[in-house]
Amino acid sequence: MPGIVINKTYCKGCELCVHACPMKIISMSKELNQKGYFCAQVHEPTHCIGCRICAITCPDAAIEVKTHGTQFALFEY
Ligand code: SF4
Ligand code: SF4
Repeated sequence: MPGIVINKTYCKGCELCVHACPMKIISMSKELNQKGYFCAQVHEPTHCIGCRICAITCPDAAIEVKTHGTQFALFEY
């Protein structure tokens, strides 16, 4: 089953991934990260189709996509 991992340390709460996800399964958390931003979270992880649009959209490379047991980091700092 595909899924994503959001690195809360990198996330700056810009919400681009929330609007980009075609399945509308990403929302903003009410928890602050260590930089003081509200982070993105996945509220319906079982609905992820592994399209990677969120990871491509994220300007801070905070999202990695897992498909078939492999975790893809699309962009590295
Ligand atoms: S991989 Fe696609 S479906 Fe899954 S959370 Fe990202 S944008 Fe949404
Ligand atoms: S696009 Fe990246 S930085 Fe922006 S809210 Fe989503 S995970 Fe955070």
